[in-house]
Amino acid sequence: MSGKIWKELLILLAIFGLIWIAFSYYNYEIDANPFAIKAETEQEMADFMNEYMLQDFETINQAPLDSVLGVIMTRLTTHMDTVSYDYQIHVIRDSQINAFTSLNGNIYIFTGLIEELGSAEELAVILAHEIGHAEQKHVIEKIAKTIGMEAFFSIATGGDAVLMSELTKLGISTAFDRKNEEAADDFALELAKKSKINPRRLGQFFIRLKRKNSTALDDLEFIRTHPLDSDRIQKSSDYKTPNSFKEKPLNIDWDQVQQMLP
Ligand SMILES: [Zn+2]
Repeated sequence: MSGKIWKELLILLAIFGLIWIAFSYYNYEIDANPFAIKAETEQEMADFMNEYMLQDFETINQAPLDSVLGVIMTRLTTHMDTVSYDYQIHVIRDSQINAFTSLNGNIYIFTGLIEELGSAEELAVILAHEIGHAEQKHVIEKIAKTIGMEAFFSIATGGDAVLMSELTKLGISTAFDRKNEEAADDFALELAKKSKINPRRLGQFFIRLKRKNSTALDDLEFIRTHPLDSDRIQKSSDYKTPNSFKEKPLNIDWDQVQQMLP
């Protein structure tokens, strides 16, 4: 009799063991990024996307502007736990109020957006938001979800120029989903706080955009690709920092930066 109980107990233990293994595997699968691609593939695609961008847009390379971007990026990246990319910030001469992230750490900022910003600290929180999209691989996810992971891989590794340009368009012009927008905001708010830049500047920027374009909010490129709803505005403008929080100015003459723009 007791032998039978032991046997049943062992069977039960084995079942629990299997369930435990299954769950740990399941959790591992959830934690691992399902949209991971090889670094070389991502770099090739990013180079292609960049070439494509340069066909349609003119980038501005001015040493003073580059050094301003350098100051901001250094402040941000030194406060990140891991930095996945060697970030490249491209300034595009265009009146669109827009910014977007491509692959492999390439971020594009339009002069129309820089003109719209009131301070270097505001630019820093926008860049922190774009870094959030990059670190969390949202662009790969967006493309893969739209055309399917298999098609994405075959286009990405096949090198067909026409399909690649379609892929580029998809990556830069379609909207992120709400979940990814919120994740990029959370990343930006946290990174801004760690970098001693007031995180509520993100909400202030959103409110200004909305006020300025209250009738045609959806026409704004930035909002078309980064859908903005009242939850995002509220969360970022109400973000709480500890009482001891004090912003450490970037010491950038913002009027001078705006005057540098063509
Ligand atoms: Zn976004």
